[in-house]
Amino acid sequence: MTTADRPSLLLVEDDPALGPMIAELLEPDYRVRLVANGQDGLHLGLTEPWDVMVIDRGLPVMDGISVIAALRSKGIAAPILILTALGDPDEKVRGLDAGANDYVTKPFDAGELAARLRALTRTFARPAGPVSIGDWELDPASRSVRSVYGGQVSLTAKEAEVLGALAAEPGRVFTRDELLAGFFHATDQPGVIDTYVHHLRRKIAKTVIRTVHGVGYQIGDAND
Ligand code: CA
Repeated sequence: MTTADRPSLLLVEDDPALGPMIAELLEPDYRVRLVANGQDGLHLGLTEPWDVMVIDRGLPVMDGISVIAALRSKGIAAPILILTALGDPDEKVRGLDAGANDYVTKPFDAGELAARLRALTRTFARPAGPVSIGDWELDPASRSVRSVYGGQVSLTAKEAEVLGALAAEPGRVFTRDELLAGFFHATDQPGVIDTYVHHLRRKIAKTVIRTVHGVGYQIGDAND
């Protein structure tokens, strides 16, 4: 991956030790811009395009939740991860209500933060036209799956979205966490993914989606 390919990341963190430490940690994978107060964070968030933002809850001048709410009210859709203090579950809920996509509780493990950010910035293909899945064909526009042998089933919007993403990249193994981050709310349990897969298998066929044990799901096989 070349330097230019790294996603841009806005980090708003006032802790003079933690801010530079997180920036250094993420710099190999992101182009990080660090600012130390909420007002600067809001200004940069509104005036420059970002692939992802990491915003601390407690910030000088303007707190993190107000920054997130203001960004969302101005139509900024980039994924946002909020850093919250340990032991205050309400803070997580307030952060998510304000428009954050996920949260990490301080003190956090570097690997955990990196994994959450990967999940938030991972993109999913959204097929524009019909996509084939073995003996079936998904038409995203009408949210229906047709069998080559005749017969057709209707899907909900969410079912069609999840199936479309899986079908657009045959052989790719999608983890529960990335599907959760991509299609559901951060407060949902990973089990919601299993429920959707169960529904899709019941509606279409048991073999439509393959379980990769201990990891997630895929359509087709990497060796096909
Ligand atoms: Ca802080």
